[in-house]
Amino acid sequence: MKKQPVILVDMDDVLAEFTEEWLRRYNEDYDDTITAEVFDGWDAVKSVKPECGVNILDYFKAPGIYRHLKPKAGSQAVMQELIDLGADVMIVTDSPMGCTFGGQDWKGSNPTDDKRAWLMEHFPMIPVENVIVARKKWFVIGDVLIDDKPATIEKFQEMNRKIIAMEMPYNRKTPARLRAKTWEDVREILLREFYPELEVAVGSNG
Ligand SMILES: [Mg+2]
Repeated sequence: MKKQPVILVDMDDVLAEFTEEWLRRYNEDYDDTITAEVFDGWDAVKSVKPECGVNILDYFKAPGIYRHLKPKAGSQAVMQELIDLGADVMIVTDSPMGCTFGGQDWKGSNPTDDKRAWLMEHFPMIPVENVIVARKKWFVIGDVLIDDKPATIEKFQEMNRKIIAMEMPYNRKTPARLRAKTWEDVREILLREFYPELEVAVGSNG
Protein backbone atom coordinates (compact mmCIF):
# COMPACT_ATOMS: atom_id res chain seq x y z
CA MET A 1 0.00 0.00 0.00
CA LYS A 2 1.14 3.50 -0.80
CA LYS A 3 2.80 5.39 2.05
CA GLN A 4 0.62 8.42 2.59
CA PRO A 5 2.14 11.84 3.30
CA VAL A 6 1.64 13.75 6.53
CA ILE A 7 0.78 17.27 5.45
CA LEU A 8 1.16 20.01 8.07
CA VAL A 9 -0.94 23.10 7.47
CA ASP A 10 -0.81 26.49 9.18
CA MET A 11 -4.03 28.41 9.79
CA ASP A 12 -3.55 32.19 9.78
CA ASP A 13 -3.09 33.47 6.23
CA VAL A 14 -2.83 29.90 4.95
CA LEU A 15 -6.33 28.51 5.62
CA ALA A 16 -7.84 31.71 7.03
CA GLU A 17 -7.78 35.31 5.82
CA PHE A 18 -6.39 36.61 9.12
CA THR A 19 -4.45 39.71 8.03
CA GLU A 20 -7.49 41.03 6.17
CA GLU A 21 -9.59 41.01 9.36
CA TRP A 22 -6.71 42.23 11.54
CA LEU A 23 -6.15 45.28 9.32
CA ARG A 24 -9.88 45.88 8.89
CA ARG A 25 -10.11 46.30 12.66
CA TYR A 26 -6.98 48.47 12.81
CA ASN A 27 -8.12 50.71 9.90
CA GLU A 28 -11.47 51.22 11.59
CA ASP A 29 -9.96 52.05 14.99
CA TYR A 30 -7.16 54.30 13.71
CA ASP A 31 -8.82 55.82 10.65
CA ASP A 32 -6.25 54.33 8.28
CA THR A 33 -6.52 52.51 4.93
CA ILE A 34 -3.57 50.09 4.81
CA THR A 35 -3.57 46.59 3.34
CA ALA A 36 -1.09 43.74 3.76
CA GLU A 37 0.87 45.23 0.84
CA VAL A 38 2.54 47.70 3.24
CA PHE A 39 4.21 44.85 5.15
CA ASP A 40 7.64 44.17 3.70
CA GLY A 41 8.59 41.97 6.67
CA TRP A 42 7.10 40.28 9.73
CA ASP A 43 7.30 43.44 11.90
CA ALA A 44 3.91 45.12 11.49
CA VAL A 45 4.61 47.83 14.06
CA LYS A 46 6.60 50.05 11.70
CA SER A 47 3.82 50.03 9.08
CA VAL A 48 1.05 51.36 11.30
CA LYS A 49 0.36 54.84 12.64
CA PRO A 50 2.67 55.84 15.53
CA GLU A 51 -0.32 56.30 17.84
CA CYS A 52 -1.06 52.61 17.33
CA GLY A 53 2.53 51.32 17.41
CA VAL A 54 2.94 48.08 19.35
CA ASN A 55 -0.79 48.04 20.11
CA ILE A 56 -1.21 46.52 16.64
CA LEU A 57 -0.10 43.26 18.26
CA ASP A 58 -2.86 43.44 20.88
CA TYR A 59 -5.40 42.61 18.16
CA PHE A 60 -4.13 39.02 18.33
CA LYS A 61 -5.77 38.91 21.75
CA ALA A 62 -9.00 40.62 20.67
CA PRO A 63 -11.87 38.40 21.80
CA GLY A 64 -13.23 36.37 18.91
CA ILE A 65 -10.80 37.60 16.25
CA TYR A 66 -10.04 34.02 15.12
CA ARG A 67 -13.67 32.93 15.13
CA HIS A 68 -15.09 34.70 12.08
CA LEU A 69 -12.51 34.75 9.31
CA LYS A 70 -12.97 33.97 5.63
CA PRO A 71 -11.42 30.70 4.48
CA LYS A 72 -8.78 31.31 1.81
CA ALA A 73 -10.08 30.76 -1.70
CA GLY A 74 -9.76 27.14 -2.77
CA SER A 75 -8.44 25.89 0.58
CA GLN A 76 -11.47 23.79 1.49
CA ALA A 77 -11.58 21.92 -1.82
CA VAL A 78 -7.86 21.12 -1.69
CA MET A 79 -8.09 19.90 1.91
CA GLN A 80 -10.98 17.64 0.93
CA GLU A 81 -9.11 16.31 -2.09
CA LEU A 82 -5.99 15.50 -0.05
CA ILE A 83 -8.03 13.72 2.61
CA ASP A 84 -9.90 11.78 -0.09
CA LEU A 85 -6.52 10.71 -1.48
CA GLY A 86 -5.62 9.38 1.98
CA ALA A 87 -3.19 12.06 3.17
CA ASP A 88 -2.89 12.77 6.89
CA VAL A 89 -3.63 16.47 7.29
CA MET A 90 -2.47 18.01 10.55
CA ILE A 91 -3.16 21.62 11.48
CA VAL A 92 -0.15 23.28 13.11
CA THR A 93 -0.98 26.72 14.41
CA ASP A 94 0.35 29.15 16.98
CA SER A 95 -2.01 30.77 19.44
CA PRO A 96 -1.50 34.06 21.28
CA MET A 97 -0.45 34.21 24.92
CA GLY A 98 -1.88 36.40 27.63
CA CYS A 99 -5.61 35.93 27.08
CA THR A 100 -6.47 35.34 30.71
CA PHE A 101 -9.71 34.36 32.30
CA GLY A 102 -11.32 36.98 34.53
CA GLY A 103 -14.10 35.20 36.36
CA GLN A 104 -17.81 35.57 35.72
CA ASP A 105 -17.56 39.07 34.26
CA TRP A 106 -14.93 38.08 31.71
CA LYS A 107 -16.03 38.96 28.17
CA GLY A 108 -13.08 37.44 26.36
CA SER A 109 -12.65 34.24 24.42
CA ASN A 110 -10.06 31.51 24.21
CA PRO A 111 -8.18 31.93 20.90
CA THR A 112 -7.28 28.24 20.68
CA ASP A 113 -10.89 27.21 21.14
CA ASP A 114 -11.99 29.85 18.63
CA LYS A 115 -9.55 28.37 16.13
CA ARG A 116 -10.89 24.87 16.74
CA ALA A 117 -14.50 26.08 16.39
CA TRP A 118 -13.62 27.92 13.18
CA LEU A 119 -12.00 24.79 11.78
CA MET A 120 -15.01 22.63 12.70
CA GLU A 121 -17.26 25.10 10.90
CA HIS A 122 -15.24 25.57 7.72
CA PHE A 123 -13.16 22.36 7.53
CA PRO A 124 -15.39 19.63 8.97
CA MET A 125 -13.30 17.09 7.02
CA ILE A 126 -10.36 17.72 9.39
CA PRO A 127 -10.81 16.12 12.83
CA VAL A 128 -10.29 18.64 15.61
CA GLU A 129 -7.91 16.11 17.22
CA ASN A 130 -5.53 16.92 14.36
CA VAL A 131 -4.87 20.43 15.69
CA ILE A 132 -1.37 20.94 17.12
CA VAL A 133 -0.68 24.28 18.78
CA ALA A 134 2.98 25.14 18.34
CA ARG A 135 5.25 28.05 17.59
CA LYS A 136 8.40 25.96 16.95
CA LYS A 137 6.73 24.02 14.17
CA TRP A 138 9.98 22.36 13.08
CA PHE A 139 9.65 19.98 16.04
CA VAL A 140 6.48 18.53 14.52
CA ILE A 141 6.92 15.41 12.39
CA GLY A 142 5.50 15.61 8.88
CA ASP A 143 6.47 15.46 5.22
CA VAL A 144 5.72 19.08 4.36
CA LEU A 145 4.46 22.26 6.02
CA ILE A 146 2.47 25.01 4.32
CA ASP A 147 3.15 28.30 6.11
CA ASP A 148 3.56 32.04 5.57
CA LYS A 149 5.87 33.08 8.42
CA PRO A 150 9.37 34.06 7.25
CA ALA A 151 11.22 32.64 10.29
CA THR A 152 9.42 29.29 9.96
CA ILE A 153 10.16 29.11 6.23
CA GLU A 154 13.85 29.84 6.91
CA LYS A 155 14.12 27.33 9.75
CA PHE A 156 12.51 24.47 7.80
CA GLN A 157 14.79 25.03 4.82
CA GLU A 158 17.84 25.28 7.08
CA MET A 159 16.88 21.82 8.39
CA ASN A 160 16.34 20.52 4.85
CA ARG A 161 12.68 20.02 5.53
CA LYS A 162 10.06 20.60 2.90
CA ILE A 163 7.99 23.77 3.26
CA ILE A 164 5.67 25.52 0.84
CA ALA A 165 5.72 29.27 1.41
CA MET A 166 2.21 30.65 1.04
CA GLU A 167 2.97 34.02 -0.48
CA MET A 168 2.09 37.12 1.50
CA PRO A 169 3.68 40.57 1.07
CA TYR A 170 5.80 40.12 4.23
CA ASN A 171 7.48 36.91 2.98
CA ARG A 172 8.28 37.98 -0.58
CA LYS A 173 11.91 38.63 0.38
CA THR A 174 12.25 35.26 2.13
CA PRO A 175 13.97 32.80 -0.20
CA ALA A 176 11.74 29.75 -0.64
CA ARG A 177 12.37 26.69 -2.76
CA LEU A 178 8.64 26.01 -2.96
CA ARG A 179 6.31 28.98 -3.18
CA ALA A 180 2.56 29.21 -3.77
CA LYS A 181 0.43 32.25 -4.53
CA THR A 182 -2.86 30.38 -4.38
CA TRP A 183 -4.28 27.10 -3.14
CA GLU A 184 -4.27 25.90 -6.75
CA ASP A 185 -0.47 26.32 -6.66
CA VAL A 186 -0.31 24.42 -3.35
CA ARG A 187 -2.38 21.63 -4.88
CA GLU A 188 -0.11 21.32 -7.89
CA ILE A 189 3.04 21.18 -5.74
CA LEU A 190 1.56 18.59 -3.37
CA LEU A 191 0.23 16.35 -6.14
CA ARG A 192 3.55 16.53 -7.97
CA GLU A 193 5.52 15.71 -4.80
CA PHE A 194 3.31 13.05 -3.22
CA TYR A 195 0.95 11.76 -5.91
CA PRO A 196 3.00 11.76 -9.14
CA GLU A 197 0.79 8.97 -10.46
CA LEU A 198 -2.03 11.54 -10.70
CA GLU A 199 -0.02 13.73 -13.06
CA VAL A 200 -2.95 14.09 -15.44
CA ALA A 201 -5.09 15.70 -12.72
CA VAL A 202 -2.66 18.58 -12.17
CA GLY A 203 -3.96 21.81 -13.65
CA SER A 204 -7.43 20.41 -14.31
CA ASN A 205 -8.94 22.02 -11.24
CA GLY A 206 -8.62 25.68 -12.15
MG1 LIG B 1 0.32 31.92 9.34
